[in-house]
Amino acid sequence: MKSWKLIKPNTLQFFTEEPSELDASKNIKVKMDKVLIAHNDILLFNNKSAALPDMVLGSIGVGVVSEVLNAEKARFSRMDRVVIEPYLACGNCRFCKDEEYLMCTKKQQLGINADGLLQDFISLPQKCLFGLPETLSSTNALLTRDTG
Ligand SMILES: [Zn+2]
Repeated sequence: MKSWKLIKPNTLQFFTEEPSELDASKNIKVKMDKVLIAHNDILLFNNKSAALPDMVLGSIGVGVVSEVLNAEKARFSRMDRVVIEPYLACGNCRFCKDEEYLMCTKKQQLGINADGLLQDFISLPQKCLFGLPETLSSTNALLTRDTG
């Protein structure tokens, strides 16, 4: 797995690591196609006061499904193009139990407080993915996401 991590203000470093295995909480592997460098990425990149861990930036991205765990139960198949919802819900709070994942009070946001999309592959829960129609280009699909 290859990624660009923010290691200190104004400095990205290229890393190569072993790929992560899929599991029940992250059951779809996506090969990233396009990542939009957005306002929050620039703010983090330039932030001189924050204590930044080595973190992968990128909250807005489009990719292609490359691997699926338990394919017979999954909503996606290999080669499906997807846009990525950048929020990882905790799965345990009352909102998550009611499947109101965007209301989750403990959710993480990719590229903000969890490793983001500026990498070649990422494993995610399928509820973070939305299929793209053939008529929508990957570039235009980037504009369907809003990181708030
Ligand atoms: Zn939750």
